[in-house]
Amino acid sequence: SNANLYAVLQGGFPKDRSKVALETPDLQYTWDDIDRATACMANLLASLDLPAGSRVAVQVEKSPEALLLYLATLRAGLVYLPLNTAYRESEIEYFLGNAEPAVVVCASKNLEWVRRAADKAGCAHVFTLDEDRSGSLLDAAGGLSQTFKTVPRKPDDLAAILYTSGTTGRSKGAMLSHGNLAANARVLNDYWGWRKDDVLLHMLPIFHVHGLFVASHGALLAGAKMIWLPKLDADLALRYLPQSTVMMGVPTYYVRLLSDPRFDRGVCARMRLFISGSAPLLAETFSDFQKRSGHAILERYGMSETVMLTSNPYDPKLGERLAGTVGRALPGVQVRVVDDAGIALAPGEIGNVQVRGPNVFSGYWRMPEKTREEFTDDGWFKTGDVGRWGGESAGRDVPADYLSIVGRSKDLIISGGYNVYPKEIETLIDDMPGVAESAVIGVPHADFGEAVVAVVVPKEGAALDAAAMQAELKARIANFKVPKRVHIIDQLPRNTMGKVQKNVLRETYQAL
Ligand code: ATP
Ligand code: MG
Repeated sequence: SNANLYAVLQGGFPKDRSKVALETPDLQYTWDDIDRATACMANLLASLDLPAGSRVAVQVEKSPEALLLYLATLRAGLVYLPLNTAYRESEIEYFLGNAEPAVVVCASKNLEWVRRAADKAGCAHVFTLDEDRSGSLLDAAGGLSQTFKTVPRKPDDLAAILYTSGTTGRSKGAMLSHGNLAANARVLNDYWGWRKDDVLLHMLPIFHVHGLFVASHGALLAGAKMIWLPKLDADLALRYLPQSTVMMGVPTYYVRLLSDPRFDRGVCARMRLFISGSAPLLAETFSDFQKRSGHAILERYGMSETVMLTSNPYDPKLGERLAGTVGRALPGVQVRVVDDAGIALAPGEIGNVQVRGPNVFSGYWRMPEKTREEFTDDGWFKTGDVGRWGGESAGRDVPADYLSIVGRSKDLIISGGYNVYPKEIETLIDDMPGVAESAVIGVPHADFGEAVVAVVVPKEGAALDAAAMQAELKARIANFKVPKRVHIIDQLPRNTMGKVQKNVLRETYQAL
């Protein structure tokens, strides 16, 4: 059988193809529409006669057609390469130069500078696609045949190159195969109990693993309807939540919902599952959300290089969803926590998270050195995250097979020769009255190598006293962990996936 991911997903489409697959505030697309529209676009891509493995780079606003273009690229056997819509000319120049795509699709408002970057990268085929179904891509595809034989692919053939979010440095292109993506989609389909009558509220961007793969594949493979919104908008979310059963979001989405007084149990009457990921969900958000909606948000953990790795249980028979943890290794995925010498650590001990499984990527695009560095000799991928099994979280004992992410190895602070895990101090600060959230970073220090600095955001209307916070911490933890400075600011810098940009904070507060 054909291991092409499109063929795999299509296997989950409902028998009745006249049902609605995708809905926006203005339009409905049936499963037949998906099949026909992706056929037209795949015919266009096939007509370009590109060599196998050619990349299709796409930087467009979210729309149903943007999803159809992804699926068409899979069908045509080419490699999909989504790009963050926030990137401007110099960034696009880097990505196109690095990826050397054969086709570039962009928003018509950016055509001039995207074409310049495409020319430099030697890319001859540039199309436009806008949110209102206009642009040269659909003009060219519209008249083509509405049938297309999905190109046969093997599990190891490349399906997509996903650039990482660039939270810790320059983005790297993770090479994901049809087999990687299919394996993860199948596991999640089962683990999260996806059903044909589910309705997914899709508000995430689709240039990232969360919205493009986890969310879309989930609904497509289940044959479930998606409500397709361009972004998180509180009015729209509240309009569509009552008819939805599943929502996926980054933690800031849940904070936004909670800040809206209209959000209550009634709005969630049909909801079956709220899922969070991409960044840590604060224990306070988890418990506030549970109080207000009756739902325990399911937190899971993954990354561009591996798709999903661990998840809190869906089925209550399998265990509780615990705040501050990312749950168990998904079926078929191996996760280990090791020290710097590669020795497995006991529950409660903090170390490097390494993973293996059918979902793990084969390497970084055109970065053989980096790829070698990030895999161990025995084939485990070094996630760059620091975590522990079991231990304690939000005042609860955590079972030994639940993972908690403590931070990133690059954010580890070494002060006076001692390791300082920012999360430990952030948790203490977050628990103080009047604190909304915090970020703890290391900055250069002449004596200690690095010094601990805290950046704290007060709750609305609260006044915080930096010296009092330092004094309280001094009474509770070792002196080398106590922030030498506490900066109080209005909000933490975040990227589009809701990740706190500690590199930005380190730069801003480097002078003690
Ligand atoms: P870069 O690799 O370029 O620095 P990035 O790691 O942020 O950027 P992504 O692949 O988009 O790029 O994000 C994966 C990372 O997100 C994980 O390695 C982890 O640090 C973080 N993450 C994802 N889910 C969670 C979660 N539930 N809790 C804590 N962190 C999470
Ligand atoms: Mg990363």
